[in-house]
Amino acid sequence: MSLRQNKKYFTIKWWGTKIVRKQSRVRTVSKHLKMHKEEARALVLARLNHYNQHYALSWNRVAIRNQRRRWGSCTSLKNLNFNYKLLYLPPHLQDYIIVHELCHLVELNHGQHFWDLVAEQIPDYQVRVAELRTIDALGHSVPVLQRVQQQYQEYTT
Ligand SMILES: [Zn+2]
Repeated sequence: MSLRQNKKYFTIKWWGTKIVRKQSRVRTVSKHLKMHKEEARALVLARLNHYNQHYALSWNRVAIRNQRRRWGSCTSLKNLNFNYKLLYLPPHLQDYIIVHELCHLVELNHGQHFWDLVAEQIPDYQVRVAELRTIDALGHSVPVLQRVQQQYQEYTT
């Protein structure tokens, strides 16, 4: 596969078939991340610090990315990564994801001890996992997530 780029279009040659696409999506996505990265970082840090009053753990650094399929991850070097699209989730699911990654600083697995730790702050974590799976099934596009968030707001107010 070869990819040739010019200003507005990129051409993909794939098994002899030439596909020309507008480049806008790629650009829009990275621009959107840039616009909302710091907002997402502020939210994540505020919630991490809130829950860490209970857990008292230490991490190395927090990175905000545009991860295609994951909401967050934790590395063995104690780096925490979060998807900026967390901004478009209802607050109780943001909190679940943040506590989940925080607890990975203690346990880098999904064993019983890990879930016991999560439950210390999110006793109904199983409900939240199920809700998140339903949302994941819809895909992580911003318009879809915004619609979901809006529905939650209508439901809770
Ligand atoms: Zn996990």
